[in-house]
Amino acid sequence: MADIVALGELLVDFVPDRAGVTLGEADRFLKAAGGAPANVAVGVRRLELEASFVGKVGDDPFGRWLVGILEADGVDVHDVRFEAAARTALAFVSLAASGERDFMFYRHPSADQLHRPDELDLDAIRAARVLHHGSISLIQEPSRSATLAAIAAASAADVRVSYDPNLRLPLWPSAEAAREGILSAWSTANLIKVSEEELAFLTGSEELAAAEDLMHDALELLVVTLGAKGVAWFALGRTGMVPGFEVQAVDTTGAGDAFVAALLAAWCRNLRPDGSTLMDDEMALSGALREANAYAALTTTRKGAIPALPTRTELRAFLASS
Ligand code: ADP
Repeated sequence: MADIVALGELLVDFVPDRAGVTLGEADRFLKAAGGAPANVAVGVRRLELEASFVGKVGDDPFGRWLVGILEADGVDVHDVRFEAAARTALAFVSLAASGERDFMFYRHPSADQLHRPDELDLDAIRAARVLHHGSISLIQEPSRSATLAAIAAASAADVRVSYDPNLRLPLWPSAEAAREGILSAWSTANLIKVSEEELAFLTGSEELAAAEDLMHDALELLVVTLGAKGVAWFALGRTGMVPGFEVQAVDTTGAGDAFVAALLAAWCRNLRPDGSTLMDDEMALSGALREANAYAALTTTRKGAIPALPTRTELRAFLASS
C-alpha cells in the first residue's frame, strides 16, 4: 500500500548537452525522465516511504523506458497505463544564457492526455495517505476527468489531497484559462505548494500576503517557495517563514518537486492515530519545512531532476553538517 499516490504526467525531457543555448541553437540533446508528479514519487521512495505513480504513457520505447526508471526506485507502477493510440509526451527544455527557460512540447495529443477515469484504481487511492497531483493533467479531457475522479475518491476516503499547480503557460489556451484551470482544483486541495511566481500569477499581486486570499477551510497548509530564500507558509489564521540553505546550485530543475516529496514524506511520518497532524505541532511543522528546504537545496547541487534526488541517508548527513 502506498503512503503517497502521485498522479499526472510522465514524459521525456530533451535537454541540450551544453548550457546557455536556446533550443534553436542546441545541436545535441540528452534524454531525461520528466514529469513533476513522477519526480515526487521517486523522491518519496528515496526518503523511504511507499509511493505509487498513476498515469499514462505511450505504448512505445520511451514509455516503457520511463516506467522502468520509476520501477528501479521501487515506485509502484501497477496503475500506469500504456496507450496505443498516442505517443509518450516529449518536452524540449533549455536554459538560455539569459537564465530564461525555453520550453517546447510535443503533445498532439500525448498519451497522458488520454488517461481516462475508468482506468484508475480508485481503491488504491482510497487506501493511501496522500494523493498528490498537478495541473497539467487538468488541461484537457479525458485526463481532467480522471484527475477529478481521483481527487473525489481521495476526499471521500479522508485521504489528503496535495496540489502543486506547476504553471506551464504554453500548455494552456490562454493565461486566463490557466488561472481558471489551476484554481478549479483549489477548493479540493488540503496541501498546496506554489512558487512565488505562481502566487503572483494567481493573485495578480507581488505581495506574499496575497496568499491569505487563497486560503479556504479545507486547506490545511499553503507553502510558497521562494527559491534559495526558502519558504513562507500559511494556515488558517497562522503564517511563518522557514529559511533555505546556502548551496552551490548547478541546476534547479526539480527543486520544487523535491521539496514536495520531502514535505509529503514528513506529513505522512507525522500523522498520528488520534488524527493529529504536522499542523498541530508548530515545531514539527518548522522542522518538516526545514527538512524539505534541505532536500530541495541538495537537489540543486546536482544535474537533472530524478538523478539529483538525494536518499534519506544523504539528507540526514547534509542536515547534520549544516
Ligand atoms: P520551483 O522549483 O517550483 O520553481 P523554487 O525555485 O522556489 O521552486 O524552489 C523550491 C525550493 O527549492 C525552495 O523553496 C528551496 O527550498 C529550494 N531551492 C531552490 N533553489 C535553491 C537554491 N539556489 N539554493 C538553495 N535552495 C534552493
